[in-house]
Amino acid sequence: MLLYIHVPFCRGKCPYCSFSSQPLAPGREGREMSGYLAALLRELTLWGERLGRAGVETVFFGGGTPSLLPLEALAGILDRVRTVFALSSSAEMSLEANPESALAPGWLHGLRQTGVNRLSLGIQSLDDGELRILGRAHSAREAARACELAREGGITNLNLDFIWGLPGERSGQSQAKWLRQLKQAVALRPDHISAYGLALEEGAPLASACADGSLLLPGEREQASLYLAGAEFLESQGFMQYEISNFARMGFTCRHNLGYWEGRDFLGLGPSAVSTLGGARWTNPANPAAWRKAVNAGQAAPNPETLDPPTRSREMLMLRLRLQKGLRLREWNALTGRSFLRDFAPLILPLQQKGLAATRRGFFRLTRSGMLVSNTILAHFFDRLPKEGASTGK
Ligand code: SF4
Repeated sequence: MLLYIHVPFCRGKCPYCSFSSQPLAPGREGREMSGYLAALLRELTLWGERLGRAGVETVFFGGGTPSLLPLEALAGILDRVRTVFALSSSAEMSLEANPESALAPGWLHGLRQTGVNRLSLGIQSLDDGELRILGRAHSAREAARACELAREGGITNLNLDFIWGLPGERSGQSQAKWLRQLKQAVALRPDHISAYGLALEEGAPLASACADGSLLLPGEREQASLYLAGAEFLESQGFMQYEISNFARMGFTCRHNLGYWEGRDFLGLGPSAVSTLGGARWTNPANPAAWRKAVNAGQAAPNPETLDPPTRSREMLMLRLRLQKGLRLREWNALTGRSFLRDFAPLILPLQQKGLAATRRGFFRLTRSGMLVSNTILAHFFDRLPKEGASTGK
């Protein structure tokens, strides 16, 4: 099982962010943090009992800004994980951090002592102008220093998060600017790079600035060239693309995230965390106070939804086609009782002819150009999926 722990706190709210996070209220940090910790430890114990000390292979602290957790608190959470679950001795234990955290004296050393063995730094950009637009607190120089310190501090599995397709005051991010940053990133010797296209949700301040013309986004063609050129460059530097937005050196794919895309069971704890276990899915209340109340009342798994066969086949398609290796045809055929290649032949052939997809060695996958338009391709597949009740799936 994969274990996800959501830490909802941030120093402030970045103007592009649509994650479930809340700025720590000044003067109330201690109270909010201790309320969160008490509820999280209780939630861990509840689930440990409920699942009978189930095996855990990966732990992922995401957020929010998990590096705002005091190190003693982090150590306490991981101690509880070890007590209530059977944590694998080779478990991957990841934590997302802002570069500022890694600059704090002693923090990286302390982090390693807790057992966290994979660090994911939210660099986002190595250009000070872009970082300002993103409302980030760190500079490009601080981001680079955080990476150096992580290496010096013995972090042997380091991911750097980037965002491409950023807006600018006179024009959107150019290919030259993006490639320059990737070159700098590679020189920092990470093991893994996540590069997400900027996705602005309505209501985000950055979305309004782009809508009213105060900031300019790259056009559609420029966006495509940023994605394709960036991926090509990373592969030329030894970072294998294994998912739409993720690149890793040999042996450094993120086991936790790969588990999601491969449809493994996961338990999510903390406000807004989603879980999928044994064919059921539920979402914790997003509001921290409502989540604490539910946990304190001993309520685990609020309103679970059983994943019916049409939902499971949609998700299988959506998640596996994110992966470079694609969808294993035998897995699909076993789930649905139908032949993928036969049912979707009218779609597959044109996609292959256009170089957007390929079928090889029992897998159907999207090519890099296909990944660029994956949402459109998926919509065509979904249109052809049998509607509820028509599937013969298990
Ligand atoms: S630090 Fe991350 S989670 Fe927090 S507001 Fe910024 S983008 Fe959102």
